[in-house]
Amino acid sequence: HQWVYSFGAGRNEGRADMRNLLGGKGANLAEMASIGLPVPPGFTITTEVCTAFYDNDRNYPAELKPQVDAALARVEEAVGNKFGDPAKPLLVSVRSGARVSMPGMMDTVLNLGLNDTTVAGLEKASGDARFAWDSYRRFIQMYGSVVLGVDHHRFEEIIEEAKLEKAVSEDTALDADDWRHVVASYKAMVAEVTGKPFPMDPAEQLWGAIGAVFGSWMNPRANTYRRLNDIPASWGTAVNVQAMVFGNMGEDCATGVCFTRDPSTGENVFYGEFLVNAQGEDVVAGIRTPQPLSKARAKVGEISMEEALPGAYAELCKVRETLERHYADMQDIEFTVQQNKLYMLQTRNGKRTAAASLRIAVDMANEALIDRREAVKRVSPGSLDQLLHPTLDPKAPRKLLSKGLPASPGAACGIVVFSADEAEARAAKGEAVILVRIETSPEDIHGMHAAKGILTTRGGMTSHAAVVARGMGRPCVAGAGGVAVDYNSQQLSAGGVVVRGGETITLDGATGEVFVGTVAMIEPQLSGDFATLMGWADEVRRLKVRANAETPMDADTARKFGAEGIGLCRTEHMFFDPERIGAVRQMIMAETEEGRRDAIARLLPFQRKDFVELFRIMAGLPVTIRLLDPPLHEFLPHKEEELAELAESLGVDVEAMRRRADDLKEANPMLGHRGCRLGITYPEIYEMQARAIFEAAVEIGKESGKALVPEIMIPLVGMVRELEVTRAQVDKVAKAVFAETGTTIEYLVGTMIELPRAALIADKIAEVGDFFSFGTNDLTQTVFGLSRDDAGKFLPTYVEKGILPKDPFVSLDVDGVGALVEIAAEKGRATKPGLKLGICGEHGGDPASIQFCEKAGLDYVSCSPYRVPVARLAAAQAAL
Ligand code: PEP
Ligand code: MG
Repeated sequence: HQWVYSFGAGRNEGRADMRNLLGGKGANLAEMASIGLPVPPGFTITTEVCTAFYDNDRNYPAELKPQVDAALARVEEAVGNKFGDPAKPLLVSVRSGARVSMPGMMDTVLNLGLNDTTVAGLEKASGDARFAWDSYRRFIQMYGSVVLGVDHHRFEEIIEEAKLEKAVSEDTALDADDWRHVVASYKAMVAEVTGKPFPMDPAEQLWGAIGAVFGSWMNPRANTYRRLNDIPASWGTAVNVQAMVFGNMGEDCATGVCFTRDPSTGENVFYGEFLVNAQGEDVVAGIRTPQPLSKARAKVGEISMEEALPGAYAELCKVRETLERHYADMQDIEFTVQQNKLYMLQTRNGKRTAAASLRIAVDMANEALIDRREAVKRVSPGSLDQLLHPTLDPKAPRKLLSKGLPASPGAACGIVVFSADEAEARAAKGEAVILVRIETSPEDIHGMHAAKGILTTRGGMTSHAAVVARGMGRPCVAGAGGVAVDYNSQQLSAGGVVVRGGETITLDGATGEVFVGTVAMIEPQLSGDFATLMGWADEVRRLKVRANAETPMDADTARKFGAEGIGLCRTEHMFFDPERIGAVRQMIMAETEEGRRDAIARLLPFQRKDFVELFRIMAGLPVTIRLLDPPLHEFLPHKEEELAELAESLGVDVEAMRRRADDLKEANPMLGHRGCRLGITYPEIYEMQARAIFEAAVEIGKESGKALVPEIMIPLVGMVRELEVTRAQVDKVAKAVFAETGTTIEYLVGTMIELPRAALIADKIAEVGDFFSFGTNDLTQTVFGLSRDDAGKFLPTYVEKGILPKDPFVSLDVDGVGALVEIAAEKGRATKPGLKLGICGEHGGDPASIQFCEKAGLDYVSCSPYRVPVARLAAAQAAL
């Protein structure tokens, strides 16, 4: 079995489409080498090794070692240096590489192969003692922290001491001898911390690093990242071992990262940063300020790569074009220049903001690099969320605190917290927080996720904070050097202004500005690339998209976002309005039918007005109105003093009040007196609602001159008789209203399918109902026997332990709930071919669930207004 794949120097055993086996990095290194780009030779240990390693009690397959040896020998031959050779040592980098890039895992060890002997060889070969000893100490530092687990501060302390002793402030002021001393101190410190001498044997170093990569696949940070991003643990990571090239060998050397288009805006410009005489991590670490690539982008005082290394720059520009044409997508590239020669170390599809993703997809389709269908596929529906959220109102007053880099767009406002843990804890309590750090590292991921926005004082556009924030869609201002952060006293300051932890700031991730206090925000623009791409999506999708909305504001938003109707109007939400809740409570408290009718009569005009407004806004689009669903006790106050107050206002006895409230209490309200069961026991409620609907429909029909077909929906039906009885009530009211108004309109009476029994007898239910809408919230609850209201307490553990792949209330359980949906769809349509089917549970806005709905042949999905664009795009992708 082949566990190791070579790349470079004329032997390319991998390809870009082998990313599952080779990881993204390994697959693309092989691909770049095979299209003739300059890639230092190396090899990839496959993800299958990772899986085998964990399946086998952390043991490697027996054939691995000989295959690694053989691949290493090929690299030695290609480079002309030998691993461990005292005169001409081969040095390698060891890097992890999963299918998708994963911050949180062991990333990179550079200069592996250095030891007390080979460092002399490197010194001789390069003719540069400082370079050799600096490389050696970097290696011990990286290897020590990522492989041996020594706290990186311990290394930094030693460097600080060395600088202090020499009275210099920059690393660059330390010479070969200083680094030699640092190396000695490093080794002593590592031996003390780990209880073992630092390994000198290159083979031991190599296997140590390989083991650390595989070990890091299961570390807590990687686990968190996988959970947040739905990456299965079974994928495993690959390990890439590659001959080193040096960007830190002198002024004709450099290292950099770039994007073939601007990852923030998507603009078609070459975008990136580089550092002369530096090694890999220096660019992202934010210790020195990276310089721009092109002269046109250089500001005063900056020296672009175009000026500093014109030959390598010209070649890099060609590589940019080659890679974009080859991959037909925006690439994120890492390169090194060693003595004016360009080497490619990585390419991958670049992470980008939602806005950039849209623009790049639309531009590339217009440039004929991809077609429109491909453009539709390129944008992740979930990422649209980012575009649908507010930005700062340009007219709003504000007080500027400082300015950093516009690292990830969008505006955010929240209280300042200084640690990821605090961000998570306070966000869990519902507070909006801004995570403020000097810089972030993979340990901060959970806090970044919990925060509304992120502010760092160090690091560039490709720093950890910037890259991760863009990927998560969190607004981020990075490298705000004017802000001083003091973790000890829990405050930040800039220009004499102090902001303490817990006080509010506002970030504008599009400009890099940081403001004291709250700044007003405005709604997003939905024109331009957004409209173009949504138009293309609409051309290919089959599923219709409706919204769950009851208020005029929600209905407006839904229409603005392109909803094609209302799939669920939860009428109970209309009852909570302070003007009406009194009448609702009076209805509940009524002892007699007459009393109840009185109270309900007070509600009628309100409901009618609600529906008139809704129909008006929806302008002829279908509107599904669900009759009252929740148990009545939800409308009563819960506190003793509120009950007393209510009793007084209704002129009833407090005792009677309490008795009634107690009466209404149920052990299990979700399975209790709710849904159509209410309509059956208190027919006057549904009658009033039906009357309000018909009167409103007639009124709007007259007003608009267009017939309106209201869709009335009965909730929680489990028996055919329930639907027959409630439907008869509605039909009776319809007749009455048509007689009174002299106008007859068409209407539909359908039902929700949200109980397993309903799904199983859907053929019979379809004989009575005109349409079905799957209430997958309740259906999930009842199929699993899992309370919607209590599951939050233990469901996360189920997901963590892998008992459930995802929260089934968020993403539809295809195997169980989905099976019932399919049964009901089939049975329903066996009775009534063409029966209209929709879904209105939360799942209607979840891309994976929408994919299922497409397969199940539903006619529409209905979701909250802000999810409508997400659903339109997801529906298009499901159809492709
Ligand atoms: C459902 O159960 O899926 C549904 C849409 O109804 P509700 O959430 O109001 O119970
Ligand atoms: Mg329901």
